[in-house]
Amino acid sequence: ASTSMPIQAMCPYCGNYIVTVTSRVPGLLTWLLCASLFFCGCFLGCCFLPFCIKTLMDVKHSCPVCGHELFHHRRLPQ
Ligand SMILES: [Zn+2]
Repeated sequence: ASTSMPIQAMCPYCGNYIVTVTSRVPGLLTWLLCASLFFCGCFLGCCFLPFCIKTLMDVKHSCPVCGHELFHHRRLPQ
């Protein structure tokens, strides 16, 4: 998956055609930015700023019917 927007898909777990529910989770890019801000001298909490920036977050798509996670959209390849 290459989108952070909800998409239509067939859930492989419950078999329903659903529109995925997206939720944002901290990903590798978030941690990298956090670390680089930390090493630039931002010791007093602003190194956690990337966690507040939605566009930097990974996106988890899950099924609204059964709640299973269908896929995970990452900002950086892992
Ligand atoms: Zn499902």
